[in-house]
Amino acid sequence: MITVLSGGTGTPKLLQGLKEIIGPAELNIIVNTLENDYFSGVYVSADIDTVLYTMADIINDEFWYGVKNDTFTTHERLKELGFDELLRIGDIDRATKIQKTQLMEKFGLKKACEIQAEKMGISSSIIPMSEQQSDIKIITDIGELEFHDFLIKHQSEPEVLDIKFSNVSPSDGVVESIKNSEAVILGPSNPITSILPILSLEGVRDALKDTYVIAVSPIIGSDSVSGPASKFMNALDIEVSSVGVASLYKNFLDNIVIDTQDSNLESRLNQIVNKVTITNTIMNNLDAKKNLAKIIIDSIP
Ligand code: GDP
Repeated sequence: MITVLSGGTGTPKLLQGLKEIIGPAELNIIVNTLENDYFSGVYVSADIDTVLYTMADIINDEFWYGVKNDTFTTHERLKELGFDELLRIGDIDRATKIQKTQLMEKFGLKKACEIQAEKMGISSSIIPMSEQQSDIKIITDIGELEFHDFLIKHQSEPEVLDIKFSNVSPSDGVVESIKNSEAVILGPSNPITSILPILSLEGVRDALKDTYVIAVSPIIGSDSVSGPASKFMNALDIEVSSVGVASLYKNFLDNIVIDTQDSNLESRLNQIVNKVTITNTIMNNLDAKKNLAKIIIDSIP
């Protein structure tokens, strides 16, 4: 069994490769819930839905959000009625969210994900990092913003001064999954708003110390492959590089996977982490995803 810690873009790409290399039933995926909230009357757990759709092979992998070839009839009608949604939710995607909201309010988020994963024919275990509601604020030069307002309304443009999020408790199975796995993979997700929230859960860092941990860097050179990770790292005074990423994980990290473009960082990284694996980490097609997944799996002692 392998546990993967995931956000909603970089790690799902790797999951597509891992699924082919070791099979979905061998994967426990712990997913970030930091940005979950109600929108348009439904509960939106964007990273969880991206992981569900990825494992069900229906993800819109142009945006890593929503379902491939979805329609937007409800969204358009809402706009005609004068309600312009902040999140553009597709019809099939909305059905998933409506069901998840109902199930969650009855059984909790973890059980809701379990039921939906089963209905979608997914054999991996998809575990929300927490069943509690997080509170995240992006402190910017134009004031304190909600995460989605920063990301969508303001297109990640304001200067970021700080990021604050509340601590929540891990859902049942998070710590156990880490403890009982052969290895844990920290996927190439936003280190600040996708991975750090999972690491901050009680018991997670301690459990990681006793498990083989491999991280794939989401930073190549001095920038993120996509999204605001570099902006967030800068705001927290963390070097925007694979060295900065490794420094966040240094107390428990056994192996960091970096891109060939960053091979010059090897000696600096060797001072932080035992093993440095250098390979192509840009996952722009299925072969690249499978190659990276295979290198990761083969590196587990
Ligand atoms: P979010 O939840 O949508 O913010 O997505 P994640 O946190 O999962 O992922 C965002 C991170 O994925 C960004 O920091 C990107 O740099 C990283 N990323 C996206 N695609 C790739 C890729 O092909 N290779 C690597 N190494 N990182 C990637």
